[in-house]
Amino acid sequence: MKDREINELDPVKTVVVATGNAHKVTEIEAILAPVMPGVRFVALGELGDFPDPVEDGSTFFDNALIKARAAQAETGLPMAVADDSGLCVDALDGAPGIFSARWAGEHGNDAANNEKLMAQMADVPEAERTARFHSSVVLVRGDEVLCGDGDCEGLVGFEPRGDGGFGYDPLFLPNDTPGKTMAELTPDEKNAISHRFHALEDLSTKL
Ligand code: IMP
Repeated sequence: MKDREINELDPVKTVVVATGNAHKVTEIEAILAPVMPGVRFVALGELGDFPDPVEDGSTFFDNALIKARAAQAETGLPMAVADDSGLCVDALDGAPGIFSARWAGEHGNDAANNEKLMAQMADVPEAERTARFHSSVVLVRGDEVLCGDGDCEGLVGFEPRGDGGFGYDPLFLPNDTPGKTMAELTPDEKNAISHRFHALEDLSTKL
């Protein structure tokens, strides 16, 4: 589907999902579709090649809203949903937080980000390694803004383990799955406890 076909979508029955990640589209649709009957969820990338907006907000909510508003403006469709998420480590005063994707410099360099996290946490004892993933999911409907927030609490590991997931998953041990890093969970296991899952559930109660 490309630009010209935007006109063929029913504006009151379409939600643009502002993410390049196909898994997120599936996750978002699975939770929001039951509370938005008859609505179709379409990834922004299917509608054209749009530039990424500058995420210069100071909170997860701000950045999710920037992405949702950009999707609205780019497609001309009134409904869009976007999420912003990251890892907040207590011993690092909440870092990397909204800077999670580009903490080690280059955007999305997971290996470098994990190296930096391991180095900064090297001397922090087990009891002080508490952290959480946070997600804010924003749905815009015309001028209306709805937001859901969710956390996944856990500990930062001493060394990476597991091949699944992405980002900081190999160094994050969720409290819900003791002894296992997020990268050692199946996608279904992760989706059942993730910050995004909780944020989407929160948003679904507001629709
Ligand atoms: P985004 O909001 O999905 O773009 O995530 C921003 C950054 O936060 C990612 O690049 C990851 O470093 C980190 N992050 C967000 N969600 C997760 C997750 O579920 N697992 C691991 N890292 C995550």
